[in-house]
Amino acid sequence: MHQLVEDSFHGIAHLLFPHCCMGCNTVLEHRKEILCYACSSLLPRTNFENQEGNPLEKCFYGRVPIASATAAFYFSRKSILHQLLVCLKYKQHKEVGWFMGRLLGYQLAKAARFQEIDLIFPLPLHPNKLKIRGYNQAALIAEGIQSVWSKKLVLDAAIRTGFSQSQTVSNRVHRWQKMQGVFQLENQSSIQGKRVLLIDDVATTGATLEACGSALLQGKPASLSIATVAYTL
Ligand SMILES: [Zn+2]
Repeated sequence: MHQLVEDSFHGIAHLLFPHCCMGCNTVLEHRKEILCYACSSLLPRTNFENQEGNPLEKCFYGRVPIASATAAFYFSRKSILHQLLVCLKYKQHKEVGWFMGRLLGYQLAKAARFQEIDLIFPLPLHPNKLKIRGYNQAALIAEGIQSVWSKKLVLDAAIRTGFSQSQTVSNRVHRWQKMQGVFQLENQSSIQGKRVLLIDDVATTGATLEACGSALLQGKPASLSIATVAYTL
């Protein structure tokens, strides 16, 4: 009986406040969905998960030793993906993080090169920023990944102790200097000897991922790989 009441309530709520696709406004059946099938399939896939030596991996050559790297989609301004990331980071749409995480997770689950991964670790947010936003978007993405790809989720391997200005500083060396010491290894035992996959929303300059990756490598994982939702390099 209780289930019947709940179903009826959801049915009425759906009629009064239909849940719509963020891309084309088509009414969606499930609250967990953000885009309809057509809009999801229009997101520009990189196929990096199956491509060794892809542009994202090349970006880390000589900077931080990684086993593999992938990003699910190409980012461009004013695209649906751009809208989704704005909703995730600045408009409290946590469900977008889980949704994007699931899309990335489906790709990882099918990619032979990523099958050896032992655990996933979302790039940490500074505690002050976490207090303001209320959540870490990379952690939501990691939870989305985990819901479709059964890998262990670790949250305490490293912490973020400082801020960076990586978006505004153009010089690469300067950027790198700014990022030094922004992340610190926190719990070595959670990653030592493990094949770690570091997760973030966007790979912009790679400087943040490089800095966090360097901190994680101090914990002597068996390998370090990287996966993001979007690629903008
Ligand atoms: Zn749509």
